[in-house]
Formats: sequence, structure tokens, C-alpha cells
Amino acid sequence: MNDKKTLLIVSAHAADFVWRAGGAAALHARRGDAVHIRCLTFGERGESQGLWKQPGMDLATVKRRRREEATEAAGILGASIDFYDCGDYPITVTEALRNRLVEDMRALRPDVILTHTPRDPYNLDHALTHELVLRCRMIAQAAGHESAHPPIGAPQVAIFEPHQPEQCGFQPQVLLDISPVADVKLAAMKVMGAQSHLVEYYGDLARRRAVQLVRNGGAPGARHAEAYQRVFPVTAGELA
Ligand SMILES: [Zn+2]
Repeated sequence: MNDKKTLLIVSAHAADFVWRAGGAAALHARRGDAVHIRCLTFGERGESQGLWKQPGMDLATVKRRRREEATEAAGILGASIDFYDCGDYPITVTEALRNRLVEDMRALRPDVILTHTPRDPYNLDHALTHELVLRCRMIAQAAGHESAHPPIGAPQVAIFEPHQPEQCGFQPQVLLDISPVADVKLAAMKVMGAQSHLVEYYGDLARRRAVQLVRNGGAPGARHAEAYQRVFPVTAGELA
């Protein structure tokens, strides 16, 4: 029996996956699991502040640089990456975008899909991505949907931690010990030069989440953690 898992991370912008799920990606990749990242956009308009401060910057250059950074970060984490390049701030959901994500879900057959919160008053691209993921998961499950691939089962959807969790109604349900790959995540974060101000912030967040992980019975030596919230119930044969 194949015990290797497949993770699909759907990131609205080119760097979201690094800050919020980089540890999970590195942890699973190290275990031999397949980790696939799909960036709907490069975050070229809304999340590339560092690049836009440079004189003479233009959209094509920002997109190219963001692609390079995110590709390098994914390589460090041990994940494959692809970009849909559908334009950010705002993302517009087209039939082509929906079909592409449905086909990716059917082809990759993830055991778990990681994505944004359903609510994010600061960033409606993130909330839209959550809904798009659930909609595409639903279509990918439909027996009558025409595709080159068979329908998928019922992969869990794990929401990664948003930048301002309280405003997004985020409830940590799973604290993932990423201590063994904290150095890998740090190296991936450091290549995202357009948003270098976030490296310290997400390092601090991981240390705080690790304190909570230990408090909740996790490994006493844990020093770095990421928080996740599940969309669907977890099935079990026993409670303890
Ligand atoms: Zn984003």
C-alpha cells in the first residue's frame, strides 16, 4: 500500500504559500509526499511592494521577478509550482480559471488541499480563492463532469493562517510542528525579496504557535509551528 500523500496548496498570490504553509510543504516533501503549489497570480499588483518602490518598475518585470522568487522558494521547500497568471487585485474568476483548477485537482488527486480563509476583510482575493477552491473541489467530485480524469474523493481542506487571524475568524484546530524544517522555511521566506518585511513577522508567529503546541500536548522540544483550521469533519473509529 502506498502511504505517500499528495498535498495541493492553492495560493492566491505568489508568496502566500511561503509565509503560511511553507513549513507544511517542507515537512511533507521531506517525508516523500508530493507537494504541489498552484499560484493563481504573481501578486504583481497588490503584494509586491518592495519591487514597486524601485524606480522604473513595470508590470511585466514585477511578474517575472515574482515568478523567479516563488519558483526558487518552492524548490527550497521541495514542492512543484505552477502559475495561473489570472491577474490580482482583484482576481476575477473566469470559466477558464475554474476549469484549470478542476482539472488540476482531478489530475493531482490531493489527499489534502491547503488554502485561504473564507473571510478576509483586508484581502478579498484570499476569500475569493477559498470559495473557488471549494467550488472546484465540488465540481471535481461530480461524476457527471466531463474530464480526462476520474472524479476525486473527499480531500480535506486545511485553511492556513491569515495575516490578521482575529478579523478573519480563524480558529487554530491543528498545530503542526514544523521544527525539523524551520531552517528550510526560513530559507524559502528569505528569497521573497519583494516582501522581506514579513520574514521576521512569520518567524515570530511560528515561535508563538509552537508555545501553544507544547501547551496542547505536542512535542516538548517544539520551537516552530503553523496553525491550520479544517473545513470538513475528521472521520475516526475512536475518540482517544
Ligand atoms: Zn495574498
